Amino acid sequence: MASLGQELVSGTAQKTPSLPDLNILQGAPVFQDKLHVGRPNIGNRDRLIERINDILDRKWLTNNGPYVQEFEQQIANFIGVKHCIATCNATIGLEIAIRAAGLKGEVIIPSFTFIATAHALQWQEITPVFCDIDPLTHTIDPQKIESMITPRTTGIIGVHLWGQACNIEILSKIASKHNLKLIFDAAHAFGCSYQGQMIGNFGELEVFSFHATKFLNSFEGGAVVTNNDELAAKIRLMENFGFAGLDNAVYVGTNGKMSEVSAAMGITSLESIHEFIEVNYQNYKSYEHELFGLPGVSLFKYNRAEKNTYQYIVLEVNESITHITRDQIIDILHTNNIIARKYFYPGCHRMKPYNSYFPHAGLLLPETERLSDRVLILPTGTSIDKFQIQSITKIIKDVIAEAMKNLPAGNNTVDISLN
Ligand SMILES: *Cc1c(COP(=O)(O)O)cnc(C)c1O
Repeated sequence: MASLGQELVSGTAQKTPSLPDLNILQGAPVFQDKLHVGRPNIGNRDRLIERINDILDRKWLTNNGPYVQEFEQQIANFIGVKHCIATCNATIGLEIAIRAAGLKGEVIIPSFTFIATAHALQWQEITPVFCDIDPLTHTIDPQKIESMITPRTTGIIGVHLWGQACNIEILSKIASKHNLKLIFDAAHAFGCSYQGQMIGNFGELEVFSFHATKFLNSFEGGAVVTNNDELAAKIRLMENFGFAGLDNAVYVGTNGKMSEVSAAMGITSLESIHEFIEVNYQNYKSYEHELFGLPGVSLFKYNRAEKNTYQYIVLEVNESITHITRDQIIDILHTNNIIARKYFYPGCHRMKPYNSYFPHAGLLLPETERLSDRVLILPTGTSIDKFQIQSITKIIKDVIAEAMKNLPAGNNTVDISLN
């Protein structure tokens, strides 16, 4: 690793501010190999291979095989929910869930989410209506929902971003007051809780993702979980082409089935879940320690009263204090092979499919736009350790120190109260 601090100390003091000139951009990258956000957590390899051999021996590769059934049972037990239907991914899971729950017309969702939340609606010609977020929790702001309800509104999809639960209590009240269906995109929230109860038990249903980048992975995969018997039965048929028996389709369905090899991976991942949480928690504490007191940068705080998986290291960069933009910091990190991300910049409403329908949606989304222009996600998980975190945070601290050093005189008061 190059010694960043020394380079910075030598020779930059007299320069006027010109960020591309930062010495940090010169020389070899701090990391030789790329560090990615969302690098998969892999459990016990031998157990996985054993299970794959079982699958091959059984020649039962998909269609509700024994590993899918076992995985569903384990998820349901872990969550304490009645029904779990494993799916090929969360996007298809959401599409099926939306249809099974009877959503149509307009559905209110946050714009600050992965694009799949919006696509799962629009793909079936249901209009996503974008609502702003609460700047503290980064989840949909319940205070702003009622003004977005129209006669065409049939539901609300809350997103438990970073595993932080939405304000489920208020959302439930609004939904029942206006006779709307409430469902949750819980793609980030497997293993997390709300008021002490596991996510997966709320609304009509919730949808998890087990994509490779998520906390728990099954290569690709997802699950719809619900305590509603009728909905569960419907979803189970819909994910298998609507077949209620051989040669008898009773619903318009799709192919949303999870394969055996994915379930084998999911079961194997589940066996290591406590280790994954512990690694993420230690990494989170390292980031918290290293970034403590850094002006203009705040680390997303998980609610310690709840169960969290600490899967996302979320920074907010306030450039009026740092005097370097979020994007400039990201460029410098990328140059050093730290592939930081801007989830979920620029917000669904500013992406072409939605921006072309609703070019002025942003007027109602000030917090979404503010946050998506500030957010910066750093790597964590089992591929990252404390020493790498020290190097990553050192780059961030050094570039900010450098940018602030170059402030014109009299303009260098910093507000560290934001931390
Ligand atoms: C990852 C993600 C999805 C989609 O999950 P897939 O399993 O990749 O289809 C949906 N919503 C959110 C918020 C996500 O982060």
